Amino acid sequence: MKVIVLGAGVVGVTTAWYLAKAGHEVTVVDRQPAAAMETSFANAGQISPGFSSPWAEPALPVKVLRWMASRHAPMVVRPRIDFAMMRWIEQLLANCNMHDYDINKSRMLRIAQYSRDCLDALRKDTGITYDDGQRGLIQLFRTQKQVDHAARDMALLDQAGIAHEFLSPDEIARNEPGLSENRHLFTGGLRLPGDETGDCHMFTQRLAQKAEQELGVTFHYETTIEALDASATDIFGVRTSAGRMTADAYVVSMGSYSPLLLRPLGVRLPVYPTKGYSLTLPVTDAARAPLSTVCDSTHKVSITRLGDRIRIGGTAELAGYNLRLSRDRRELLELSFSELFGASGDLSQGAYWTGLRPSTPDGTPVIGPAGRFSNLWLNTGHGTLGWTMACGSGRVLSDRMSGKRTEIPCLDLSLDRYTTT
Ligand SMILES: Cc1cc2nc3c(=O)[nH]c(=O)nc-3n(C[C@H](O)[C@H](O)[C@H](O)COP(=O)(O)OP(=O)(O)OC[C@H]3O[C@@H](n4cnc5c(N)ncnc54)[C@H](O)[C@@H]3O)c2cc1C
Repeated sequence: MKVIVLGAGVVGVTTAWYLAKAGHEVTVVDRQPAAAMETSFANAGQISPGFSSPWAEPALPVKVLRWMASRHAPMVVRPRIDFAMMRWIEQLLANCNMHDYDINKSRMLRIAQYSRDCLDALRKDTGITYDDGQRGLIQLFRTQKQVDHAARDMALLDQAGIAHEFLSPDEIARNEPGLSENRHLFTGGLRLPGDETGDCHMFTQRLAQKAEQELGVTFHYETTIEALDASATDIFGVRTSAGRMTADAYVVSMGSYSPLLLRPLGVRLPVYPTKGYSLTLPVTDAARAPLSTVCDSTHKVSITRLGDRIRIGGTAELAGYNLRLSRDRRELLELSFSELFGASGDLSQGAYWTGLRPSTPDGTPVIGPAGRFSNLWLNTGHGTLGWTMACGSGRVLSDRMSGKRTEIPCLDLSLDRYTTT
């Protein structure tokens, strides 16, 4: 089957990889000059099944109200007249209850855990490297309230069979010696030994290269996708800045821009951009630097070691599609880093970046068929954890498109969950 994958972020490229592995003839189209130049460029570097949690939780509305008064709030809503944003917030709020939280979290855990296994197999199969590390993650708690909240997450981790352990401040310092001097800041920590780290941009570019050279995938870069041509039941072409392209099937993996392409076809995809920021610094004192990923629950910032660099990532802003770099957001990243790993990296050399997470209101990606169109497929909406979930999502979609039985249940990951519940 001839397949066109729309978008060459980490999700589009992994999808293309698994489709080509399954024997399909694959073409990937992207407006950028190379793979992973938009949201997959400089994310926080966590491959973190154990950290998979939806934003929509019962306490979120109160927290957001409280954060409105704070300059360094982890989540910010920039008021604007934007019906897509208002509808998305309404759907997010509808998920802010314990029942939906548990369902959403278990779906996220399922795809994320499977994805980590797929990445492991891919690494063994291809020998791909990407400043990767397999040393786990520690979520740091500064308050008893955070510890209490984590108790429920730990019960869900038990159910999902994900290894985890609660650490005292001394144990935190033994795992991450760079935190030794600051152990008084913590009440405890949750260690997820199965979580991993790595540079998503490096991975995606290297996988794209392998897909091209070893599996014959064709990449059309610097090509803007303009519209899909459709009959009542089928897609029969994609209009691009380089002309019309046709295939037997089409996959939409355009990150936050996916709903804009689908809207004229009447497909309502509940994906909205949540803007995040990162800073990448050179390590200046390895003894004080993180060894793996440390997540600061108070500021909602993750700090990850990527080879001889440190990546600090986080914050969420609902602000439409603007990519302006905010000074306040940078200060928040710097604050968390300074409090935890202070002298281990040179903030003045930090490369500051922003990206738009393609987020769904329930935190779970949308993987599966697109409404009434027989040959249109979706693999998008991976929000906070697209790097974590990419390989598993690509594999699941490829299996479904190839008519194979998927290795994990996946019907509840498709767009239908928004129309049937
Ligand atoms: C600050 C931050 C930190 C993060 N940290 C983590 C983390 O630690 N772990 C994790 O798992 N995830 C993390 N994420 C989330 C993760 O980065 C995203 O979920 C993931 O990159 C989304 O990948 P994607 O392929 O869906 O989208 P993208 O990478 O955005 O790819 C979409 C592609 O579509 C192309 N495109 C869009 N519109 C068009 C058009 N009209 N024509 C042609 N091409 C088009 C774009 O050029 C782009 O290449 C983070 C995100 C941010 C912002």
